[in-house]
Amino acid sequence: MSHSTQNLSKGVSVISEAVCQKVVGRDNAFTAVENVFAAMAKNTAYNFPVIREAIGHENALYGFKSGFDRDGMVLGLKSGGYWPGNMGKGLTNHQSTVILFDPDTGKLKSLVGGNYLTAVRTAASSAVSIAHLARKNAKVLGIVGAGHQSTFQLRAALEQRNFEKVVAWNLHTDKLSNLAGVCEELNIPFEALSREELCAQADVIITITSAFEALIAHDWIKPGTHIACMGTDTKGKQEVAAALLAKATVFTDELAQAITIGEAQHAIAASLIKADDIVPIGDVINGTRPGRTSEDEITLFDGTGVGLQDLAVASVAVDLAEEQGLATYFTL
Ligand code: NAD
Repeated sequence: MSHSTQNLSKGVSVISEAVCQKVVGRDNAFTAVENVFAAMAKNTAYNFPVIREAIGHENALYGFKSGFDRDGMVLGLKSGGYWPGNMGKGLTNHQSTVILFDPDTGKLKSLVGGNYLTAVRTAASSAVSIAHLARKNAKVLGIVGAGHQSTFQLRAALEQRNFEKVVAWNLHTDKLSNLAGVCEELNIPFEALSREELCAQADVIITITSAFEALIAHDWIKPGTHIACMGTDTKGKQEVAAALLAKATVFTDELAQAITIGEAQHAIAASLIKADDIVPIGDVINGTRPGRTSEDEITLFDGTGVGLQDLAVASVAVDLAEEQGLATYFTL
C-alpha cells in the first residue's frame, strides 16, 4: 500500500492557506520544484494540456493545470485563475486550489489552498534557474514588476547568490515600496531605476509583470546577464524584446508551454528562434545538457508555470501538515 493510500483511511485531508504558509518554506519549495523539473526532463512526470478560458464575467481568466508525477506518485490539478478586480475586494487577484487524487485508486485525497503555494512555487522556479544558470559572482539583482508575486521572487532570488544590491522598476511606482520594504528587512541596498538603467546594473533580472508588450530592449542587456522571464504565462503577454531570445541561450520549464504561452511565443512566431534551440532546465539539472558555458553568455529562463510545480509543492504541504497534525479531514 502506498503512503497516500494509507492516509486515505482518515478521509480527504484539507490543508488551509494558513497551514501551507506554516509548513512549506522556500527551501522545500525549491527542492520540490527542482526535482519535478528534473522528472519532467526524464519523462517520468508530465503535464496534461492546460485549459484556460476567459469566462466573460468579472474579466476573469479561469482554468486547470494538471499532471502526473510517476516518481513522486502525485496526481492532481490546480484549478483557478486571475480575477483582476479582486484587489478592491481585499483578495489577491490570483485564486487557486490544488486537488490531489490517489494515483493507485483515483480517489480524492486532498484539497489544498493554492494561493501561497502558487507564489512560493513560482519564486522557486526562477530561483532554480538562478541557481543553475546565473554567474556565480552575480552582485546586483534587478526586479521588473512589484505586484503580488514580486516579493516572493525577491526573497527566493536573494538566497541564490551573494547579492549586494537590488534595483527595481514598476509601472506603478507606488508599489515599489513592497520590494523596498523586503530589502530594508534583509538589510540590502535598494534603488528604483529606469528599465534601461536597471539592465545596465543588474547581473540577474527577474521580470514578473502582466505586460503585453516588451518592457526590455535586447541591446539593454549586458553580457553575462541571467534573466528569468516569469510574467508571461498566456498567449499575447510579453515582457522582453523577441530579439533578446535570439541573442540569449534560452531555457524553460516546459517547451510546449514556452512556445505557445511563454515568453518564447513571440520569437518563435517571428522565426527568430526554433523550438529546438530552447533547453528544458530539467536537462541542465540532470546534467544531460550544459547550462551556462561562458561568463559572457546571456541566459534567459522562460518560466511559464506548470501544473506539476503546483502538485509538487501541494504534496509537500500535505505530507508535512499530516505529519505535524495540522490537516483536517472529511469523508465524501
Ligand atoms: P499583480 O496583478 O499583483 O501585479 C501585476 C504587475 O504587473 C504589477 O507590478 C503591475 O504594475 C505590472 N503591470 C501591469 N500591467 C503592466 C504593463 N502593461 N506594463 C508593465 N507592467 C505592468 O500580479 P502578480 O500576481 O504579481 O503576477 C504577475 C504576473 O505573473 C502575471 O502576469 C501573472 O499571470 C504571472 N504569473 C506567472 C506565473 C508563472 O508560473 N510563470 C505564476 C503566477 C503569476
